Amino acid sequence: MSIRLLDQTLIDQIAAGEVVERPASVVKELVENALDAGATRIEIATSGGGKALIRVTDDGIGIAAEELALAVRRHCTSKLENGLFAIDTLGFRGEALPSIGSVAHLSLRSRRRGADGAHEIRVSGGVTEPVRPAALGDGTVVEVRELFHAVPARLKFLKSDRAEASAVTEIVRRIAIAFPHVRFELAGEDRSATILTATPGEPLVRMAAILGENFAENALALDAEREGVRLTGYAGLPAFSRGNALHQFVYVNGRPVRDRQLHAALRAGYQDAMARDRHPVAVLFLELDGRDVDVNVHPAKADVRFRDPGLVRGLLVGALRQTLAANTVRPATTGASGLMARFRGPVAQPGYANNAPGHEPVAQSFFRPLDAHPPRSQGLAEAPAAYVPPPIAPDLMDGSPAAGFALGLPRSQIDKAFIVAETIDSLVIVDQHAAHERLVYEALKAGLAARPLASQLLLIPEIVDLPEIDCERLCAAGPTLERFGLKLERFGPGAVAVRETPAMLGSVDTRALVADLADELADMGTADGLETRLHHVAATMACHGSVRSGRALRQEEMAALLRQMEATPGSGTCNHGRPTFIELKKSDLEAMFGRR
Ligand code: ADP
Ligand code: MG
Repeated sequence: MSIRLLDQTLIDQIAAGEVVERPASVVKELVENALDAGATRIEIATSGGGKALIRVTDDGIGIAAEELALAVRRHCTSKLENGLFAIDTLGFRGEALPSIGSVAHLSLRSRRRGADGAHEIRVSGGVTEPVRPAALGDGTVVEVRELFHAVPARLKFLKSDRAEASAVTEIVRRIAIAFPHVRFELAGEDRSATILTATPGEPLVRMAAILGENFAENALALDAEREGVRLTGYAGLPAFSRGNALHQFVYVNGRPVRDRQLHAALRAGYQDAMARDRHPVAVLFLELDGRDVDVNVHPAKADVRFRDPGLVRGLLVGALRQTLAANTVRPATTGASGLMARFRGPVAQPGYANNAPGHEPVAQSFFRPLDAHPPRSQGLAEAPAAYVPPPIAPDLMDGSPAAGFALGLPRSQIDKAFIVAETIDSLVIVDQHAAHERLVYEALKAGLAARPLASQLLLIPEIVDLPEIDCERLCAAGPTLERFGLKLERFGPGAVAVRETPAMLGSVDTRALVADLADELADMGTADGLETRLHHVAATMACHGSVRSGRALRQEEMAALLRQMEATPGSGTCNHGRPTFIELKKSDLEAMFGRR
């Protein structure tokens, strides 16, 4: 065995493995090149999920005939004039085109602005053909055919045409948000055409075109700065959350990035305002000096490293918290640790017994005394009236708490969200939404065996406007959804018509259900088996079919829920793994009051 220098095609193919992972990464590189060339109109067309064809057409400055050959050579770039730390273009490594040319049929047709005519160069499996004259008005057309034909192993890793096509859509959406002054057109056999018209100076209009029209009225503007790092963009209201993190767009100096730390910071900013299993919708732009951030971490240029990550995180978390706190009606919750501290009793609060008359004590305890006002002159001598439990439905009368129900008998409901029950030796608090969600989920799964599940016909089909990519996902999953009794069909571009909904869910917010399902579908790997997919769908539907918190329940309803929970395996946790109830032993209660 001896050491030798690899031939150029092999070198390019190895490098291509990092730059060009799938059709969407080719699209990303080509669109970036068009933007770097100052294009104001970019058209992207694909067929066969981008495996058969990717064509990107732009009206940018173009490439001169004598430079075409350089454009497809490794480490040749017209960018990077001011070094690695003052990068003001999306590309800079000079390796996208040669990489693509080494694993596909690449053709580059271009006319430099002001030049007499256009020229074309072709590269196939790493072999470059001579430049020749071509016909083209202005700008550049790049065509990539039969991607990875030269490296069959790679082909095997690609997903279905449909999945690859939607990855292409996703990447274009991501880039387009940062370039509202550019018109994007996404077309080709893989999809019905989407046009994003140029909206110069109106970033929010572009965002709404991509994130849904209601984003604008559900988002808060961000603008903060700390030590030379600036954060702008929009943060979706907590109530406008989604079922996955796909609707979070982060840009560093105009470059779309996927950075764990930034996403973690985003999450932390929302922590107190949002349930754990929900994800905020947000568009964040970070601007900072090129010397303070390294984008040359990976050939795909989607990773970044900050010189001072703590500073960036602090800015993000701080700005989000502040903006949200100033705008949400609901105050930030204190969380479990705060609650536990409050259990500790009267130490932290003014004693009720010895208050000077006229001075209302500030009730700091979580459990306020039953009387609205603490007794004054009589001190504690006058005991509050005995607590009378609410009447229990007749059929439960003879069931004393000792009757053997693990979750006991319902005593009352708190905040229309929690059921308080009593067993023979404990106090039980049930999260009604979480519990019911789990029950519906189990029922849906069980019902699937007797498929298809019953549906209810909507008198008037409900038309739901959704981003095109979501419509595609939903329609593609049509047969699966039908098994649950959800029937929908396409209703022109950017909308679906829902005709029937699952009977088991009762009356649901169809729009919200469909949007969440689209999210869930986007999150699901195509590799997931049918079983897993069905369960995911069941879980999403269950969430919509359950008794949301905020509904007053009658005594019988509460009892029925408890009995059902006892009869359902796995009902101790909701579909997201949170507990559906908590229990406090009476002995613990006694201990808390110092009786033991
Ligand atoms: P990089 O973008 O890192 O420079 P690429 O391989 O993507 O490397 O492109 C090589 C060069 O080809 C670019 O520097 C640019 O000069 C030229 N080029 C590529 N695409 C276009 C385009 N659409 N319009 C004008 N010039 C282009
Ligand atoms: Mg490039």
